[in-house]
Amino acid sequence: MSGDILKVEELTKYFPAGKRNLLGKQSQLLKAVDGVSFSIRKGEIFGLVGESGCGKSTLGRCVLRIIEPTSGRIHFDGEDITNVDARQLKQLRRKMQMIFQNPYSSLNPRLTIRQTFMEVLRVHRLAAGRESERIGELLELVGLPKDSVDRHPHEFSGGQLQRIVIARSLLVEPMFIMADEPVSALDVSVQAQILNLIGKLKEELGLTMLFVAHDLSVVEHISDRVGVMYLGQIVELADVDELYQHTLHPYTKALMSAIPVPDPKRKGEKVILEGDIPSPIDLPQGCRFASRCSECMDRCRMEMPSLKEVSPGHYVACHLYDQ
Ligand code: SF4
Repeated sequence: MSGDILKVEELTKYFPAGKRNLLGKQSQLLKAVDGVSFSIRKGEIFGLVGESGCGKSTLGRCVLRIIEPTSGRIHFDGEDITNVDARQLKQLRRKMQMIFQNPYSSLNPRLTIRQTFMEVLRVHRLAAGRESERIGELLELVGLPKDSVDRHPHEFSGGQLQRIVIARSLLVEPMFIMADEPVSALDVSVQAQILNLIGKLKEELGLTMLFVAHDLSVVEHISDRVGVMYLGQIVELADVDELYQHTLHPYTKALMSAIPVPDPKRKGEKVILEGDIPSPIDLPQGCRFASRCSECMDRCRMEMPSLKEVSPGHYVACHLYDQ
């Protein structure tokens, strides 16, 4: 692994919400992403985890410039891509690919796999004269028989479709892939196969990936580092082993306690999160987790904790760890 390929600084994405005031201005803002900073190293899988609605998918889409961030900066491969124009964005699309949650909806049902893949090669002017060979190589790489190529999407299972979508994203030899909940629509046994495939591709191709999931157990085995998001902010970030062995933030601890453990001796106490989740259009001034945190102190309701490094590479936003 070497230097950073992606650097995100103080990124925000606010959506207008609520009624307009007398001047026609939107009176409220939904703060989906609120001041997030992190980086991803070349050859690294960075897992981004949090409950649904925490802003992780919005963050991923901002990073890929599918939606415009409200403020902050995004650097990719040494360049500031925050405000690139349409022409530069087209070039960027080849370097940055995305895998969606539902593989069926991301493929054209009327086209065979060959037609879908040929279209990508044609648009990006790749593998001229050896298109069939290239398509065959990729299908083999993701564990599908070469004769899959003349079939339509409805002839495949969900797991096979996700393999096809992964192969399609690799056609352009991207530098970076954003995978948005790529296994959550699949059966548990198939999830494991796709995660193994992603792990294999990382080893063989040196893939760099932002892997978004709502479940900590999904990212555990493939991520190098993990960031945990809560209501638009990263509340804990660390190397995967450090995060799982020395969990600090009360929210991460709750997510961790929900992971099923097969060994009954290792079973810890399940943390049930009680209390209401604040609305992202009416956030509290203090810690956003205060209403659900069993360790909440007076200070937590007044002052928002910032993300601080408490041991090398381990960051947490919680007043319990303030020096
Ligand atoms: Fe809990 Fe306070 Fe830490 Fe927030 S800052 S997670 S309320 S202890």
